[in-house]
Amino acid sequence: MAIRYKCRHCDTEIGSLPFESAKETLQMLQRMDETEEERFLTYEKGGAVTVRCICEHCEQSLEKFPNYYTLRKWLQ
Ligand SMILES: [Zn+2]
Repeated sequence: MAIRYKCRHCDTEIGSLPFESAKETLQMLQRMDETEEERFLTYEKGGAVTVRCICEHCEQSLEKFPNYYTLRKWLQ
């Protein structure tokens, strides 16, 4: 079982952490309400959790071109 981090913009897998070393993340996730949980978390078969965050590349693009991602999100 592991927590996987995926970019919610480009779907790149950023990395994964074994459950044991991700206690802080889990605690943070448990504090979120259901809407936030749905937005950021995907529960995979077998009990793994995918956290949808943002990769370095998209973060940089987002800083440079904030409108691009707003537009893309709107189009989807
Ligand atoms: Zn990305």
